[in-house]
Amino acid sequence: MAIQSIRLFGDPVLRTPAEPVKDFDKELRKLVKDLTDTMMDAPGAGLAAPQIGVGLRVFTYYVDDQLGHLINPNLDLSEDLDEEGEEGCLSFPGLSYPTPRAIRAVAKGFDMHGEPVTLEGTDLMARCFQHETDHLDGILFIDRMDPAQRKLAMREIRQAEWSGLSAPTFKFSPHATHGKAL
Ligand SMILES: [Zn+2]
Repeated sequence: MAIQSIRLFGDPVLRTPAEPVKDFDKELRKLVKDLTDTMMDAPGAGLAAPQIGVGLRVFTYYVDDQLGHLINPNLDLSEDLDEEGEEGCLSFPGLSYPTPRAIRAVAKGFDMHGEPVTLEGTDLMARCFQHETDHLDGILFIDRMDPAQRKLAMREIRQAEWSGLSAPTFKFSPHATHGKAL
């Protein structure tokens, strides 16, 4: 097990676009394992490499008992939106908000051995693919909320007990009720 500390909102790494993976080597396989271990420990439904301070286009997911990872993802999204679905993020511990997302997503990319992969998801899985791919572009779920919702969220974020504690060594113990954080 190699559980890493999860970077919190305010850490600049969360706003930095990640680089495509070029070498499908042992180090990449270790990164996928670290992401998986850290996500399962949190627990969360998804985790992107920048959330553990690594600027590479890799994420893991654990949705509906399906555990996996995707490297260098590209998304194709449905036009139908789920406007009301609640979404959380491990980099914003304990908070979740309605966040509009496409209901269906097709995610194309590679596995850790460099083999092409196509994943299809609806509802929470589709939401997870969009949330994690956003992380790789330095985009956070607050950016996807409508302006009124974002205003409300930002007020709560500023008041959160972890706010301002974005030092890389900070380890948060999440509350058990937020299993949907991504
Ligand atoms: Zn997140």
